[in-house]
Amino acid sequence: MEFKYNENLIPYLYEGVYVVDKKRKIIFWNEGSERITGYTSDEVTNSFCYHNILQHIDETGKQLCFNGCPLQKTLNDGMINEARVYLKHKDGYRIPVMVKTLPIRDEMQNIVAAIEVFTDERFQKQIYHENQELKDKLRIDPLTQIANRHFFDFQLSKKLEEAKVFANPFGILMIDIDYFKQVNDTYGHLVGDEILKIVAKSLSSNIEKTDLVSRWGGEEFIVLVDVTSIDDLLKIAERLRRVVEASSYHFENGKTIQVTISIGGTLAKPEDSAKTLIARADENMYFAKQNGRNQSKIS
Ligand code: GH3
Ligand code: MG
Ligand code: MG
Repeated sequence: MEFKYNENLIPYLYEGVYVVDKKRKIIFWNEGSERITGYTSDEVTNSFCYHNILQHIDETGKQLCFNGCPLQKTLNDGMINEARVYLKHKDGYRIPVMVKTLPIRDEMQNIVAAIEVFTDERFQKQIYHENQELKDKLRIDPLTQIANRHFFDFQLSKKLEEAKVFANPFGILMIDIDYFKQVNDTYGHLVGDEILKIVAKSLSSNIEKTDLVSRWGGEEFIVLVDVTSIDDLLKIAERLRRVVEASSYHFENGKTIQVTISIGGTLAKPEDSAKTLIARADENMYFAKQNGRNQSKIS
């Protein structure tokens, strides 16, 4: 009895995967199976699945091993079976899993073994959500809910690499709120924070999907812009400057506060590093400040 399956592919799958021969002897047990059940390959391999180590039961509590074993069914009729079952972890508790059994055939199409793939859905979901949360924490500034500097740096370095290879230029805009210290001093830090959120929202709502705005630090923002000319970059900078100028924070008594921004922008050149690129944008931003604020300087 000769059959082949690619052992190299399945050991590291997230899912539990094991293989039984025609006599239901377990001949392969991957890492996913170990993780989900608590049993190592050494403990299980060469035992028979009808020794009922995992004690599969269905929703009604019926023991499936002796009557209704999905693997046995597949060995008998060659059909793919799918079932929700509860198996027993080595530590004694029950785990709900989705089980799928498939036949393995030799060259003559005789069924020689069966493979069971099982997934602990709850565990998978939990890990997935935890991963998403962690990913978000790594990318998002908690106050303004836009990208943080760390994520921006990462995207910028990718863009610079691409620019070197494909010679496609792009722009950046360095943005700093004008006289923000005064806002804090006059209205308090909490109001200052609310205004930071409003500015972030105005910026992020008025850029293209392909562009990225991030909080660079304090009351400074930086935007990665998909443009190829100084003129286009200036148009975008001016649009952002105007939407921020037209945004406002509202107090309950009806009073409003507006802030303005100064913007320094530049186009990336193939020889640029992140440092030289940002230094140029920063210089332009400084110029815009010196020149009276609430303006864009792009070069
Ligand atoms: P200008 O940029 O026009 O030269 O004046 P400015 O008063 O805005 O000066 P600067 O950019 O140096 O000021 C930064 C101020 O921003 C200092 C601090 O009070 C305020 N700031 C920085 N980060 C935060 C923050 O997270 N929350 C609040 N509320 N204020 C912040
Ligand atoms: Mg500043
Ligand atoms: Mg400022």
